[in-house]
Amino acid sequence: MIYTDTRDSSVKVTFKQAVMGGMNPATGGLYMPLSFPKLESCLLNKDPAPSFRDVAFNMAKPYVEGEIPDNDLVSLIQDAYPFQPKIVPLDSISYVLELFHGPTCAFKDFGARFMARAMSYFNKSEDTPLHILVATSGDTGSAVGSAFHGVSGLDVTILYPDGKISPLQEKQLSTFTGNVRALKVKGTFDDCQKLVKTAFTDDELRKKLRLSSANSINIARLLPQSFYYMYASLVVRNRCALDNKISNPSIIMVVPSGNFGNLTSGLIAKEMGAPIAGFTAATNSNRTIPDWIATGDYNARPSVETFANAMDVGAPSNYERIKAMYTLETVRSLFASYWQNNEGIIAGIKSCNDKTGYIIDPHGAIGWSAWNDIRNGAMEQLMNGQKNDFNVPGLTPNVPVWAQAVKDKKAVGIILETASPAKFGSIVKDAIGKEPPMPSRLGQVMRLPDMAVSMENDYNMFKDWLLANR
Ligand SMILES: *Cc1c(COP(=O)(O)O)cnc(C)c1O
Repeated sequence: MIYTDTRDSSVKVTFKQAVMGGMNPATGGLYMPLSFPKLESCLLNKDPAPSFRDVAFNMAKPYVEGEIPDNDLVSLIQDAYPFQPKIVPLDSISYVLELFHGPTCAFKDFGARFMARAMSYFNKSEDTPLHILVATSGDTGSAVGSAFHGVSGLDVTILYPDGKISPLQEKQLSTFTGNVRALKVKGTFDDCQKLVKTAFTDDELRKKLRLSSANSINIARLLPQSFYYMYASLVVRNRCALDNKISNPSIIMVVPSGNFGNLTSGLIAKEMGAPIAGFTAATNSNRTIPDWIATGDYNARPSVETFANAMDVGAPSNYERIKAMYTLETVRSLFASYWQNNEGIIAGIKSCNDKTGYIIDPHGAIGWSAWNDIRNGAMEQLMNGQKNDFNVPGLTPNVPVWAQAVKDKKAVGIILETASPAKFGSIVKDAIGKEPPMPSRLGQVMRLPDMAVSMENDYNMFKDWLLANR
């Protein structure tokens, strides 16, 4: 597969170059495959649906063709995914896609573990270490740290906003030793991301350190996230005959979003033939994308803190990829877009629990609220021209092509549950009066000592530290 650049379509690189480079330092653009090959129809039509690992292998294959042989790809996938996504029905037309069964209990394990193994595969022939910089607003750092920890030839530096992530999230990314280090930056997530982006465009630094990224800008994190969209849509399509007697349902993927990497992966799965009718982009008060869909104006802005803090992103990096794939009109026809404030997050956790018994985390709760509103009349209101004020929490006024299917009761929603509710125990408790059970792998990490180093929001200090600590 050839990869090109969102800012310069004459750029052509291999998978290895795209993975190891992270982004294009010459243009600041992001890599994208030139095409999204459709899966063979025998796989798409298989009933029962193929296993998650089969889906993963067949989807990854065209993107690494000629660079990773089939048998190495099989081992890479087996090693990356000793766990699976899990599909849980909430009611007859709503499912939760649990993406938190990996080591750090969040969906980013899917992307990070594939990327770490791809980088380690390509770095085998090098004799200097590759230095990975990652800015995190929550779960990225732990997923990346965990995925790379102990992998030889790779060093990782994690930057996170001091005091702006939960104590458990902080433990999960500040307790690594050896090749994985954490910096707590006196600033916001956007400041952390800016330090990383500045480092990537610093030629002098790049002469001394081989740098790569591990944020959702790396194509090796984005592609594997498409596997679970494909898998879930095939499984749900097949089981709908039993669950709700809807044949050929319009499947709506409801995606809690921050940097919009996860949602972009969903777009890739749809391009590859997944039976997905459309998407609902669910955000917190960081409404940059909903506002763009509502008004047509894209205005990146400083992030604000919310209870769904892994989505506290004011300048979503994958906006650039979505724009490279689709026009605004296509986005409006494919996506519903929805935002919710903190009160709405708490109300969402509670309503999900009251109506279904399911304990959902603050990120998934926005997805639940979006889907629950959509199927209970909010979409029909939009269709009737009762235009939603996009400054009030809820849907933006665009009517996607799948709206009629919702009205006709032929749509089912799959809500992506991006983290275990146990990672946000006190918020969940505020909403439903009890804490969710703690998986043992989370309990263990709370007992480890904190190794993070404090860092000013200052590029030169950051650079000096990197050079002194390589
Ligand atoms: C990272 C994250 C998100 C947002 O994912 P994006 O790909 O940045 O849109 C949502 N929920 C959780 C729990 C996350 O960790």
